[in-house]
Amino acid sequence: MIVAQRKRIPELVEILKGNKRILVLGCGTCVAVCLAGGEREVSIISSALRIASNVQELDFEIGELTIERQCDNVFIEEAAETIEKYDVILSLGCGAGVQAVAERYAEKPVYPGLNTAFIGILEERGLWAEKCAACGSCVLHQYGGICPITRCAKHMLNGPCGGSREDRCEVRPDLSCAWQLIYKRLKGIGQLDRLRKIEQPKNWRMNLDGGCRVIVREDHRI
Ligand code: SF4
Ligand code: SF4
Repeated sequence: MIVAQRKRIPELVEILKGNKRILVLGCGTCVAVCLAGGEREVSIISSALRIASNVQELDFEIGELTIERQCDNVFIEEAAETIEKYDVILSLGCGAGVQAVAERYAEKPVYPGLNTAFIGILEERGLWAEKCAACGSCVLHQYGGICPITRCAKHMLNGPCGGSREDRCEVRPDLSCAWQLIYKRLKGIGQLDRLRKIEQPKNWRMNLDGGCRVIVREDHRI
């Protein structure tokens, strides 16, 4: 899932100052699961903004709505009637959600209420960890399903770097060395031979080269 964190209330107040009718728009998918932008957080942030408005005499009128997905026009459309009633939208979607809503409402300011952090999973209660950097050319098969780009602090495709102590990463001693994990995993599934292969430098053109990436599926364009 996409993992995000709520922006702090003082930062949101700064972003919203000067506006009156503000819709706090939640998203019921990834950001709800990571407890950043779902219905519950819409309610918490809205309450906090109302208090800030009273204290600072900002004259905010705060509305609340959560849709199932902000990155999908079908769901954005369902919010049209409510959105029309507000001057600005504070989106609690991820960065894609904020931009999808902004594209749909070209005449209305849409502000981000979250900091979108990474693609990851919930590892334990209250702890999310990054697992994928969306590099555009997945090599997980080569490393037993453990991503060296995301989980090795030096993003090494031919590791380890030689700096690990016991099983700890040299750069991030709070984490296991990714290459220790890769070794254990490949050993466990009988694929240690994979480590004999020297990986060629990664082609980063599939990553953030030359503006936003697009995927075109011709079979879906007829
Ligand atoms: S290799 Fe790339 S696509 Fe695959 S998990 Fe790692 S960052 Fe994500
Ligand atoms: S110690 Fe391991 S995880 Fe850390 S940078 Fe070196 S190879 Fe990568």
